[in-house]
Amino acid sequence: MDHAADPSHPRYRSLLMRHRLEIAAKKGMLADSALIAHGRGEAYDYLIGEQTIESADFATKVALRCLKEAKHPVLSLNGNVVALAGDEMLQLADLLDCPVEVNIFYRTPERMTALLSDLDERNKRLGLGVEILGANPDAEIPGLKGPRAKCESKGILQSDVLLVPLEDGDRCQALVAMGKTVIVIDLNPLSRSSQTGTITIVNEVTRCIAEMVDGFDSDLPSRSDYVHEETLQAALDSIINGMKDRFKTVE
Ligand code: ATP
Ligand code: MG
Repeated sequence: MDHAADPSHPRYRSLLMRHRLEIAAKKGMLADSALIAHGRGEAYDYLIGEQTIESADFATKVALRCLKEAKHPVLSLNGNVVALAGDEMLQLADLLDCPVEVNIFYRTPERMTALLSDLDERNKRLGLGVEILGANPDAEIPGLKGPRAKCESKGILQSDVLLVPLEDGDRCQALVAMGKTVIVIDLNPLSRSSQTGTITIVNEVTRCIAEMVDGFDSDLPSRSDYVHEETLQAALDSIINGMKDRFKTVE
């Protein structure tokens, strides 16, 4: 049995996530830089204690309410998100009765096919009928050049509330400029995506989406109670305060 499959290992969860990425890489679902992005995320996850911090829990609830109240919510999926949290994303889309759209930064026909067929398999295995978009891009996100501007008119283009985990900063900005409510999930509170999103959840994507699914029917706070800068600062504070006296011996 390899490490990733051994729940007795103290870093089981982290190893499991890496293992999911290894499998996805072998299936051609990931860009070469995917593991670098994951490594940056892992480092921040260590710094927040690999747990959902209070400010992220609140942002998650506000984001869920926005998604539930949206006219056209859409969940945007890239390679890492499908590999790590594909099942949870489909479960959330099913509860919201909304489509998911594969929307990748380094778009190649091979990667799109690999991701779409992986999602199809998950949909079937889970017994869900979630609409999976991305195969037929017929629209563009204004302000972006090349393949990363491509999207579907009945998906991302017409969405009013869009969930974009691990999004590129540029594209996040372009989506906000279209007037959408853009919900970012990103472990790095300093990334451009975190800063430019409308609502940012500083948390690990799999943890966050599982919590949205579990708390789907709970009481949710209103959007007007969310303050963006305070949320990002709270994440930074939790990193800084968590480090204080970390290795100081008690006198
Ligand atoms: P930008 O400033 O343009 O937003 P970036 O730092 O986001 O750049 P990317 O290569 O897009 O650069 O990095 C991916 C982002 O996703 C990183 O900020 C990283 O912290 C975050 N990330 C990686 N893995 C996860 C994960 N499992 N859950 C949540 N966030 C993650
Ligand atoms: Mg980013």
